[in-house]
Amino acid sequence: MSMQYPEWIWQNGAIKRWAEATTHVMSHALHYGSSVFEGIRTYQTPNGPVIFRLTDHNTRLFASAKIYDMAMPYTVEQINQACRDVIKANDNTTDYLRPVAYRGLGGFGLSADTPTDVAVATWKMGQYLGASVLEAGIDACVSSWQRFAPNTIPAGAKAGGNYLSGQLVAREARRLGFGEGIALASTGLLSEGAGENLFLVFDGALHTTPVSAALLNGITRNTIITLARDAGIQVVERDLPREYLYLCDELFMCGTAAELTPIRSVDGRQVGTGKPGPLTRRMQELFFGLFEGKTPDKYGWLEPL
Ligand code: PMP
Repeated sequence: MSMQYPEWIWQNGAIKRWAEATTHVMSHALHYGSSVFEGIRTYQTPNGPVIFRLTDHNTRLFASAKIYDMAMPYTVEQINQACRDVIKANDNTTDYLRPVAYRGLGGFGLSADTPTDVAVATWKMGQYLGASVLEAGIDACVSSWQRFAPNTIPAGAKAGGNYLSGQLVAREARRLGFGEGIALASTGLLSEGAGENLFLVFDGALHTTPVSAALLNGITRNTIITLARDAGIQVVERDLPREYLYLCDELFMCGTAAELTPIRSVDGRQVGTGKPGPLTRRMQELFFGLFEGKTPDKYGWLEPL
């Protein structure tokens, strides 16, 4: 992804020029993957710009830090404010926020109490999996790489090191000509996409893999589950075997970056009709409806800038 860098970034309490927001090569995180981060989208709605589930995302940032016993020198509210400040500093020209907290400089043992540095970057993400995929869907494959076992690295933390797994899955998929890769858990059952959770449709109900399947408990996943249940659509969280990807009526993946992306084939097998199905469309309507003022924001998810 080539990207244009916006001008301003927040780092350790101050808004700085992008080029000045640097860190030392001997930072702990660079060597050991000891960072935690979030990806958050902003949307322009009829009622003005919003940050989608800002507090939930930053609460998860702190949960990820807690899992790794990483001291956070700020509060959730301060990081929320940093997110707002950096969007405003860049004149609200970006649509994606990246808070990141990491073990910095000042201690090099694996168990060192290295100080935590925090930054919030923002940039224009647009459509993460490519133009028009929200309409057409993507072709996915099951990766030859499995997700890490639950007693190795906690999938419930959104930590930098976890994304070594995601990179293997995503890069393999791209090398083979697919839009995205899906990983199995160490149990051999379905886990999630390289950076997205999965929903399969059977007989008008949504089925999604459980948090015990080595996945990140996505905020978009939770949004879809909540919107579906509120609309009277059944949602089942359950273990699912790989072949159900081929047999389901509809399939989609979701995440902050991917939003709600239909999958039209897996491993060369067409899913359903090969086009986004009615429940996928309905969930897209409900999800994007939040930002178009069509789906009521019952839970205060649209946090004002
Ligand atoms: N799984 C992984 C591995 C991810 O990186 C992401 C993106 N953060 C998700 C799932 C979806 O999570 P969310 O909806 O909170 O963005």
